[in-house]
Amino acid sequence: MRTRRQFSRSAWSRWTVPLLAVTIGGSVLPQSSAAQTHSISEQPAFFVLGGNVLAGGLTAAVTAAIAGNNIPDAFLKGAVGGALIYTGKTAVAARNWPAMVAGRAVSSMGAEIVARGGRNAAISLDSIPIPLGPIDFMISPGRSNPVSVSLNVFDLIALAQGLSEPGLSLDLERSAAALTPVFVTRGFGVLRESGQRVNGIAIGRTVVLDRGSPDLDRTFAHEMVHVVQADFVLRAWEKPLHALARDRIAPIRVIPKWIDAGVLFPTILQLNDLAFGSGQFMHLTQTEAEWFALRSR
Ligand SMILES: [Zn+2]
Repeated sequence: MRTRRQFSRSAWSRWTVPLLAVTIGGSVLPQSSAAQTHSISEQPAFFVLGGNVLAGGLTAAVTAAIAGNNIPDAFLKGAVGGALIYTGKTAVAARNWPAMVAGRAVSSMGAEIVARGGRNAAISLDSIPIPLGPIDFMISPGRSNPVSVSLNVFDLIALAQGLSEPGLSLDLERSAAALTPVFVTRGFGVLRESGQRVNGIAIGRTVVLDRGSPDLDRTFAHEMVHVVQADFVLRAWEKPLHALARDRIAPIRVIPKWIDAGVLFPTILQLNDLAFGSGQFMHLTQTEAEWFALRSR
């Protein structure tokens, strides 16, 4: 049996790999400024698909390595999950609500397959994850407990903040298509982030759009890709990490299993910003969101 100290050292070095994986996956994307949207949209789909497949495969492989499972099996299953996530991102950026709803479900299933791949579990549709705002449903037809839910604390706080902010109104139509709260600035309200005017923000999986955005639908498509990125980090990174921590660190068991902090993706973005400004990870998530949004035109 490994001691906790040995575990934490090896786990640290192993968990840095998923971060690197995403960076490697993105190194094939253009390293130009996000303002050069023209060149972003001209990147072949193969590169973006490859980045998602690689991120899925490596995430599952690393999870398997930590848990002592079969690594090649995990990589292959994770790669399948990554391909589904790519398909889901294409659909959420498609600007019509049936495609968006389907895209959210497909990409969540993809992220779930990545997570299951890490456990060497079979790829199946026995359990289907459906996100709905701060609640994540898991639908397992035929089981004694066919519906299980988990509550995302970060997303719940973002929703409460959005609702209590007088300058924002909840866009019910867009929220229904997104399966997550979408707020739009009221009247002449202007959206700012770090003092700079922005067209839209995704806070975890909550979207805020500036009504004055030159192309509101394109901004919406862009932010929806960020929502799917958050879905992936939640399902394939944070939930497995939380489960692993529960097994090994007793005080964590105080937190009920159905609670997700939902902080990993926002924290990564924040730390990345502090360390590198608009550094590699942030740049990658932005470039990808812009690529899908421009392609969906
Ligand atoms: Zn963005």
